Order: sequence, then C-alpha cells, then structure tokens
Amino acid sequence: MTDTFKAFVIAKGAEGQAQSASWHEMGLSELMDGDVTVRVRHTTMNYKDALAITGTSPVVRRFPMVPGIDLAGEVIASDSAEFAVGDEVILNGWGVGETHLGGYAGIARIRSEWLLHKPEGLTGAQCMAIGTAGYTAALCVLRLQALGASPAGGPVLVTGASGGVGSFAVALLAALGFEVHASTGKRSEGAYLKALGASQILDRAEFSEKGRPLGKERFAAAVDSVGGQTLANVLSVTRYGGAVAACGLAQGYDLPTTVMPFILRNVTLAGVDSVMADKAHRRAAWTLLTERLDLGHLQQITAEFRPDEVEETARALLAGKIRGRMVMNID
Ligand code: NDP
Repeated sequence: MTDTFKAFVIAKGAEGQAQSASWHEMGLSELMDGDVTVRVRHTTMNYKDALAITGTSPVVRRFPMVPGIDLAGEVIASDSAEFAVGDEVILNGWGVGETHLGGYAGIARIRSEWLLHKPEGLTGAQCMAIGTAGYTAALCVLRLQALGASPAGGPVLVTGASGGVGSFAVALLAALGFEVHASTGKRSEGAYLKALGASQILDRAEFSEKGRPLGKERFAAAVDSVGGQTLANVLSVTRYGGAVAACGLAQGYDLPTTVMPFILRNVTLAGVDSVMADKAHRRAAWTLLTERLDLGHLQQITAEFRPDEVEETARALLAGKIRGRMVMNID
C-alpha cells in the first residue's frame, strides 16, 4: 500500500480570511479512525460538496477536511468481518466530507457500519453517477409508496427537476408508471426531462412566489428538493390524502405554510434524510435504483469533471448551471 496519495483539502482561513481548498499530498497517518481502508476510484459533486468547497455554508465541521460525501472504490485493508480486501464498496453520507475525511482523495479510511457492498449490476462509476442525489430520490420514492402513492392515484410533481435529486426522481417515478410533472426553472431542459419520462414540464415560477394557503388540488404526491415558498405551494396543491417527500432547500430552508393542507386535506409532509438513514433503507433504495433505473437515462443525467475542475464545478452547481450529476474519476 502506498503511504501517500493526493487529496483535495479544505483548510480553515486565518481570522477574517476565507478558507483555502486545493490538492495536496496526504499521508495514511493523517486519515481518521476507521476499520476499512478504501482505494477511492470515483466520487461526485453534490450540492453539499459544493457548499463545503466554496465555503458558502458551514457544512464542514472539522478542519482540515477532505470533501466528498459519496465514494466508490475497493477495499485495500480491513479489520471488519463484513468487508474483505478486494471487495468493491460504496458510501453515501454519514457525515463523511463534513466531520470525517471524504471521497476527494486517493484513499479513505471509513467505518464499516457506513459502507455497503457495491450493488450487483452497477459499476462503481455508475453508483457515483447516482450518488447521494439518486439514492435520496429513491428514498423519497420509497417513502411516498409507503404512504400509499401509486400510479392510479394521479400525477406526481417533482420540483428542482433538472437537478440531481430531481432528475432521478423523475426517472424512477416514470419507470414505476407514475405520470410525472416536472417543475424546472430551465426552459431549455424540457426535452431532457421528457426523455427521462416526464409527461409535463412546468415553469417553477408557478410555485416559487407566495401563493394561497389552499389551491386547486392537482397532485397526488410530490418529491420536493427545493423547500421554501415552493414547498409551501406544493403542499397547498396536493390532493386530499396525498403526500409530499421533502428532502432539500435549494430555494430556502424556511417553510411559509399554514396548517390548512394538513387539517383540511389530510396531506402528509414526509421529511427524508439520506445522511443517517439506516442500512435497511439504504439497501432498499439501491435495490430500487438497480432494478428500475434505465442505464441509458443514467448516462444522460451524468457528466464527468476533472480534479483540476473541482472549484469551478462547485461554483457552477451552486449557480444552478449544472444539469443532473457530476462524477470525478479519482484514479
Ligand atoms: P442540484 O443543485 O443538482 O439541484 C437543485 C435544483 O433545484 C436545481 O437544479 C434547480 O432545478 C432547482 N433550484 C435551484 N435554485 C432554486 C431556487 N432558488 N428556487 C427554486 N428552484 C431552485 O442539487 P441536488 O439535486 O443535489 O440537491 C437538491 C437539494 O436537496 C439541495 O438542497 C440538497 O442540499 C438537498 N439534498 C438533501 C439530501 C437529504 O439527505 N435530505 C440529500 C441530497 C440532497 P430547476 O432549474 O430544474 O428548477
């Protein structure tokens, strides 16, 4: 095993100074505790990674930090009975890239309870193309199904549809037979969203401004990665007995709603967290993705970025200029 490897390191700035972020040589001894050591082959750029890399929001809770909340690679050392040298593994969340050194590095040391074996039928690169965004979309879909959503119930809305979570939510729901209405701010992405399976494209302006406590009943269910006023409006147009899976805050973390959708329409607002989800939910989400995601769609959703493009990719993602998912080959 090599003693040193390249890692993208975020360092805290001096008093009053911005943080710094760049590639460095790192030693094995600098890695944090964990019973499994992984040679990282692929990682991704999630919204949270972009916040961490640009220092836009206090995502990083320990400095220096290596970002990368998702990683895929091969076990090169293990003290765990569950994982052997040579096993291909994936990781999403668990505070990696926030409190524990993450996937933007040649080698990561991880706790075995956070790792999953790579799902059969997907490559490590494909798992990273899916990443936390796709796995979260799958958690949202499973949550809506658990709350009774079915294609017979009526159309389902996906907000932030051209983003990472949104793209996978559209593709998965369409693959399951739902009529998917995709809300996007990018008029130019209509063809892309239709190719993923959306039957109607809606302008996100319909949902982003202050609306009425209760609007016309339109959707049986929704996946919302936008939050803020959009989520409030989505709740107000959810049909009687419907459910909304809320996982994001691309518009804002506020929720200027009223109790009306809940007490008059029996609407359920279901929060979805991917970071601390247990292994059973993770496995169910990856099974859904393995069984239902069209790999042709995955290719349409994904683009690659190079190690020297980390910061510009992060800025572009936060500026809403990126469609779908960005994967980095660490090798
Ligand atoms: P992306 O940046 O890929 O997508 C977000 C999308 O939201 C954009 O593409 C855009 O879609 C839409 N959007 C952006 N800004 C606004 C705005 N001001 N008002 C309305 N819509 C907006 O991010 P991800 O898909 O990776 O993540 C989406 C959200 O979900 C983030 O807030 C992220 O932190 C959260 N998240 C939460 C997880 C959890 O565990 N709960 C896990 C993963 C993500 P369009 O142009 O099509 O409208």
